[in-house]
Amino acid sequence: MMSELNLEKSKAMFDEAQNYLPGGVNSPVRAFRAVGGTPLFIKGAKGSRIRDVDGNEYIDYVGSWGPMILGHAHDSVVNAVKDAAAYGTSFGAPTEAETELAKLVCTMHPACEMIRFVNSGTEATLSAIRLARGATGRDKIIKFAGCYHGHADSFLISAGSGALTLGVPSSPGVPTGTASDTIICTFNSMESVESAFEKYPGEIAGVIVEPVMGNCGCIPPLDGFLEELRDICTREKSILIFDEVMTGFRVAGGGASELYGVTPDIVTLGKVVGGGLPVGAYGGRAELMKQIAPAGPIYQAGTLSGNPLAMAAGFATLKELSKPGTYEELERKSARLSDGIKNVLDEFDLKFTQTRVGSMFSLFCTETYAQDDTISQVCDTTFFNRYFHGLLENGIYIAPSQFEAGFMSLAHTDDDIDTTITAIRTVLKSIAI
Ligand code: PMP
Repeated sequence: MMSELNLEKSKAMFDEAQNYLPGGVNSPVRAFRAVGGTPLFIKGAKGSRIRDVDGNEYIDYVGSWGPMILGHAHDSVVNAVKDAAAYGTSFGAPTEAETELAKLVCTMHPACEMIRFVNSGTEATLSAIRLARGATGRDKIIKFAGCYHGHADSFLISAGSGALTLGVPSSPGVPTGTASDTIICTFNSMESVESAFEKYPGEIAGVIVEPVMGNCGCIPPLDGFLEELRDICTREKSILIFDEVMTGFRVAGGGASELYGVTPDIVTLGKVVGGGLPVGAYGGRAELMKQIAPAGPIYQAGTLSGNPLAMAAGFATLKELSKPGTYEELERKSARLSDGIKNVLDEFDLKFTQTRVGSMFSLFCTETYAQDDTISQVCDTTFFNRYFHGLLENGIYIAPSQFEAGFMSLAHTDDDIDTTITAIRTVLKSIAI
């Protein structure tokens, strides 16, 4: 049965936060605007469980929006950060930890011979397109409607994630000139990409894509789409950028590039690579990466880049992920959840669409699935909002938007998953019948 949650302390903290932080938060989707209600203020988390300040506990499928693939407060990550902190938290000078993590990333990700660490996914993507532009001497970038690549000017045009959820896919404040250098194509449509290359011959520096869309909910690429993007970029001497901030180390050790067997020229990473600390990275072939300062002329820098605590958390996380059987286990758990949900949907004769790539998944409240950003026009968001709040009241925390992916972690137990399926049954029963 559903019970009213006591969120008294979260409410008070949210009220106070709104006096000092725009909208009460430091990142828009956290504010629960799409689903209504009070955002949970978090006290702590361990493994698959997250606790709010009122003492409610939830099984967490947000996982800090992707990074917490080992679960929260994993011992090896916490110890690595503690050990690193004892030596000092930032030096602004090289440390061995940076090379160690770089080596590990280059062994795991097929696109990387060299990488540069930054502090967020946004920094990784904005630096990657600067590299693409610098290396080709061209200005235009192709992006896909509904893909989210962080909040740099060039990307806030037909953007996904919070921008889409909050109805501001193209943000005020983006200069017209910048916007006109971003060409918007349709995900999973090679036709749209071919016509962009025909319209701007020799002008397109690069194509940036989430190889699995994760910011419109989880939308996998159609067979051949990534291969064809690879081919057209090679033919047109454009740089192919896979934005694997979400999929990197998530859908496979080598991300979507490994999973689909397509190697981009540049890959951007974030989330898992920092194990829950602020890290982003971009990598590629040595010949391309050596065009970045100080090896080459394309400038990009960062006071806290390669921060020792962040490197330690990332290294500990990737080491755990490199153990044999990890991705098989994530796949098994994720399949257990999606199979369970399918059975519940069948019980209620609900023909909603489930999508999943490894441990990234969505349940779209629609019978008419769309494999591009138009998914946002066909989902029953009113139904989703009731589903979201129902799950919360039953101890399950999913992203507060229909258009965000869910994430399984290695810390979720079979019991957690079965409890989740039972909660979904309770909630769908109360809404659908
Ligand atoms: N690219 C993708 C694919 C993302 O999902 C995100 C964040 N959700 C970003 C870039 C931006 O990363 P950050 O929020 O760390 O700036």
